[in-house]
Amino acid sequence: MSIDHNAVREAFQSMGLYGDPESGLMRRFGVLLNIAPVDYWVALELDFIHKMGTAALRLSENVLIDAAHWCAYGTFGGIMASAEWAAMIAPQIKTVHDKLDGLVAVTNCLGWGHISHYQLDESNQTLEITVEHSYYVDYWLDKYGKAERPICYMWTGVTAGYMDLLFGGKVHEFTAEEVACAAVDGGTRCHFRAERLEKKFAL
Ligand SMILES: [Zn+2]
Repeated sequence: MSIDHNAVREAFQSMGLYGDPESGLMRRFGVLLNIAPVDYWVALELDFIHKMGTAALRLSENVLIDAAHWCAYGTFGGIMASAEWAAMIAPQIKTVHDKLDGLVAVTNCLGWGHISHYQLDESNQTLEITVEHSYYVDYWLDKYGKAERPICYMWTGVTAGYMDLLFGGKVHEFTAEEVACAAVDGGTRCHFRAERLEKKFAL
């Protein structure tokens, strides 16, 4: 790997995570960041699922994954277009693996958990990532106990969003799923897999 993750982390920290003096907004890496309690985000998503009802469970999950997918595509697309990326990460990028490694280095500074491993297959255009301490898991276990289904919707959307940015021309050329979740299986690791979306009838 050619990206120095510690250097990215140090640079990220040196920017300071506080509102800018004039605007009050926290613009970093070309996007607006905010700091919000995990409980708030997870509760919001669970509330949405419960209000939609059990008959619409799969639909509700897909809506949350899709929202994260769009968000990841926009946010990380913005990050890759930023001055910080150009100065700190772009010069070290020689391959698509390096570009993904840069995205992982930045993502691991955001407080969402830690991507500890990833496997990018360029020829088959698949991506597998392992996330340690996904922010959903402890909250879910504390509040509801063991989950029956994977619940890390944001990370699922991010995995697909990465691939759209690396290999696609636009959002939704890839899809992802959480294939193993710590909220279901115990432990600290969740696993995600993305692949190109098969379109029926070439539509
Ligand atoms: Zn999970």
